[in-house]
Amino acid sequence: MACHFCDTLHTAAAVPEGTAARCKRCGVLLYQNRTASLVRVTAFSLTALILMGIVHAFPFLTMEANGIRTELNLARAARELIREGSPAIGWCVAVFTIAAPLVLAGGMLYVCGPLLAGRAAPGARQVARWLSRTEPWNMIEVFLLGVLVSLMKLGQMADLSFGVGFWAFAALMVCMAGAAAGIDQHELWDRLEVAGE
Ligand SMILES: [Zn+2]
Repeated sequence: MACHFCDTLHTAAAVPEGTAARCKRCGVLLYQNRTASLVRVTAFSLTALILMGIVHAFPFLTMEANGIRTELNLARAARELIREGSPAIGWCVAVFTIAAPLVLAGGMLYVCGPLLAGRAAPGARQVARWLSRTEPWNMIEVFLLGVLVSLMKLGQMADLSFGVGFWAFAALMVCMAGAAAGIDQHELWDRLEVAGE
């Protein structure tokens, strides 16, 4: 492999867990073998999937205005938006906050789970390639920021309180980031190759 900084060519050899390979000329990080990377990715993705269940089972937000109490959850918010004249925003909410995290966490679990046992799931290579392409589309943080901004405005009109769903969603965000950062692309490909997929 070539150093992305100075283009010096190296033979990519396996490095022990917890260490990294650096360019022999300029010292830039080439790739690394993070400690317990597979365990970490698997644990974070599994937790993310469980949290998604909690996000949808509990109210995201409770609004109270003029004595009327409304509980809102994520799927219902998306559905209402699609029906009530903002279908584009509704579909964005559905795709980026419900479908994308589900597919990403599920995909990472599918690829890394079996690798823990030294096996590669059927088609794991395709899934991994596809995951690395769709990762920039996971916009869960952007959504959460948007929610907070709109809540500040809504807060002037109604009494708002965050539900269990909201906190689960915030934790989900942390788990997705942890899972995505848990493993090096180069390491993942190496492990898939060793596992024979
Ligand atoms: Zn270099």
